Amino acid sequence: MKEFEVINKYFALNNVNRPDVLKGVGDDCALLKVPRGQRLAVSMDTLVAGVHFLEDISPEDLAHRSVAVNLSDLAAACAEPAWLTLSMTLPELDDSWLAGFSKGLKEITEFFGVQVVGGDTCKGPLSITIQAHGFVPESVYVSRNTAKAGELICVTGCLGDAALGLKVAQNKLKVKTDVAEQLLKKYYRPFPAIAAGIALRGRATSSIDISDGLLADVNHISQQSGVGALLRWERIPLSDSAKQVKDQTLVQQAALSGGDDYELCFSVKEDELEATQHALQVVGANCIPIGRFTGKPGVRLLHEKEEIPIKDMGYLHF
Ligand code: ADP
Ligand code: MG
Repeated sequence: MKEFEVINKYFALNNVNRPDVLKGVGDDCALLKVPRGQRLAVSMDTLVAGVHFLEDISPEDLAHRSVAVNLSDLAAACAEPAWLTLSMTLPELDDSWLAGFSKGLKEITEFFGVQVVGGDTCKGPLSITIQAHGFVPESVYVSRNTAKAGELICVTGCLGDAALGLKVAQNKLKVKTDVAEQLLKKYYRPFPAIAAGIALRGRATSSIDISDGLLADVNHISQQSGVGALLRWERIPLSDSAKQVKDQTLVQQAALSGGDDYELCFSVKEDELEATQHALQVVGANCIPIGRFTGKPGVRLLHEKEEIPIKDMGYLHF
């Protein structure tokens, strides 16, 4: 199979045909139309074998994951996803692997109505780079540097499951079959909080997706906004699966410093909490207050009245 045959067969998907795509895969450039009154939100993530995913991941799961982590960044910007570009570095052209990847790609692009509009394909160690493009209304501006002291810190769902799932996948954690299934699903099939992001427009005063771990990501908002953060351990939501893990120290570590949950962490003004909870409930997401931004620099964690020392913020590449 030649490179262009591979592109046509596996990446030039025709499952999503958006009217704002004037030219998609197959030309020198894609030609795209941003709707009037909207801004373009763009984000890119690379996934490298052995660093961002286990080498034995199925191609379907890998496609899902690559797209999901990119859409998650759009969710944090309260953007509505529109287009993807896809750069694939492949060690070989393996038909059954490519068919699996293409299937996973089709499923998630169809679910979110995003169109693959171009990309690049080359030979080398397995790595996938995706750039996600989405729209945000001109009136909406939410970022990591817009939190203010006094605002509540909230998350959209349970934390730690994906990191525990990774431990299960690596045979480092033994749990009952049904618990393992739930945890593995959270690890292999992260679900970007797109609907929650859109519901947070005009309500969230700052926002980030939890990819490096809660503490690390709260710290990003804290530092960039020039505020401190006070979190309460007992408020941090854990799933029923996480609660069934015997080693609760491991669970705490996963919830605080494990990455890959892809829930949103955002701030709201206290008197907006109820309205925000309602808005998120409508789209099937939660709005769980876990602490508050403060005037005292640094991220601190309380368990009841005691301060828990923070040793490990989260994942760092270098
Ligand atoms: P060029 O040499 O002009 O850069 P390529 O051969 O790299 O062209 O790509 C041909 C077309 O296929 C382009 O429209 C490009 O966007 C698209 N394309 C290449 N690789 C991928 C991929 N992995 N996924 C989606 N589209 C791709
Ligand atoms: Mg090219």
